[in-house]
Amino acid sequence: MAGRLEGKRTIVTGAGSGIGRAAATLFAAEGALVLCADINGEAADDTAAGIGRAAVGLRVDVTRPEDCQAMTEQAAATFGGIDAVYANAGVDGPGRAGDLEVEEWNRVIGVNLTGVWLTVKYALPHLIEAGGGSLVLQASVGGVIGVPGIASYAAAKAGVIGLARQMAVDYGADNIRVNAICPGTVPTPLVRATYAKRGGFSATASAPADASIDEMIDAAKVRHPIGRLGTTGEIAQLALHLASDESSWTTGTAIVIDGGMSVA
Ligand code: NAD
Repeated sequence: MAGRLEGKRTIVTGAGSGIGRAAATLFAAEGALVLCADINGEAADDTAAGIGRAAVGLRVDVTRPEDCQAMTEQAAATFGGIDAVYANAGVDGPGRAGDLEVEEWNRVIGVNLTGVWLTVKYALPHLIEAGGGSLVLQASVGGVIGVPGIASYAAAKAGVIGLARQMAVDYGADNIRVNAICPGTVPTPLVRATYAKRGGFSATASAPADASIDEMIDAAKVRHPIGRLGTTGEIAQLALHLASDESSWTTGTAIVIDGGMSVA
């Protein structure tokens, strides 16, 4: 039986860890060729090695235009084109607006918003050449609702949702679909880093000020009506749906996948 991404030529950024690694692995299991990109080149190579011949690993810093251009050129040359991109790479962004230094603001916006734009910018000509395709942009539930103490992160993620909407309008005629994914809490290294740096406010609004990271992760469950945090595989399943032709009439939308967090 053919896979849900059979023969699709794809790129996944942030593929060295967490949601990106799960998505790259799932895409390949469903028949895709996958360029696994990450600023941690060794981790990208590990993900690709775990997949086998359908994948290649590449060190890419998504904040660098030249890296993003080289990434798309390599994917197009290796696979013969590009059909779908999952712009997933991201960093933690704790801190209230008044407490952030300019460097910290720029770091988070640089990866989580500008990096998403650069990731898809250079892929556009290849998708147009292929007759269309799918761009999946990683946002967050923090781009949709207020979450305590993540000002730069939330601003970047809301920007990603706006970018998806805008690109859907501008590239619909090229048969390119653009959608954003807005996950609730999935306990990955990024979430652990956010909680570790939380300083001065409760990252989960339900854990005591002196809670350990594991205690904060446990306390975060209560904010998700379904009673547990998400898994990387659950987010990867939505990315697969949006990357595949199953979602052929879905574009410009931001899909929340959060165990009910945003409606509680
Ligand atoms: P993670 O830390 O496990 O993975 C993030 C990956 O991105 C890492 O491998 C890291 O090396 C890579 N990366 C960081 N900066 C990069 C750069 N400049 N260029 C290329 N790669 C870079 O975290 P995750 O939770 O899997 O995060 C993946 C995405 O999901 C992020 O965009 C994050 O904001 C988003 N997200 C996560 C959650 C969650 O609860 N985990 C919720 C909402 C959204």
